Amino acid sequence: MEDCIFCKIANGEIPSATIYEDGDFRAILDLGPASKGHALLLPKKHYADLFEIPDEDAAKAFTTAKKVAGALMKAAGAEGIQIVQNNGEAAGQTVFHLHIHMIPGYKKDGHPGAVWNPGTLNDADRNEIVENIKKYL
Ligand code: 5GP
Ligand code: ZN
Repeated sequence: MEDCIFCKIANGEIPSATIYEDGDFRAILDLGPASKGHALLLPKKHYADLFEIPDEDAAKAFTTAKKVAGALMKAAGAEGIQIVQNNGEAAGQTVFHLHIHMIPGYKKDGHPGAVWNPGTLNDADRNEIVENIKKYL
């Protein structure tokens, strides 16, 4: 993808604060971190989101995120780490090259990463989704 910034970063055409690299992935520090050490795992191949990446590469992405996140927690002195991955504008995706967020958490700072206000599961939503999803799986 010619105009994709994460393609250029992942493939080393644009410099980045790289914390991990192998033949398929690069992990970089996020320029707008939610907490100290907030990093992104990028595949070197362009996939817009989770629905474009082949299953085998998606599995590899998650195991690589596991490895890097464990090391990142130790390197940053964090006590927890949030793994977040946004798909689509409606879900908060702003860069349309698949990436996995790794957001270290620190007891002293509270919860720095993605948070939501828990609602209450209502009968209409529950029935609609439990019924409809059968058509798509
Ligand atoms: P999204 O909202 O798409 O899930 O996440 C995009 C993330 O990429 C944001 O956290 C944003 O701070 C980060 N980001 C955007 N452009 C750049 C960049 O050029 N370099 C780095 N390191 N991070 C970026
Ligand atoms: Zn790309």
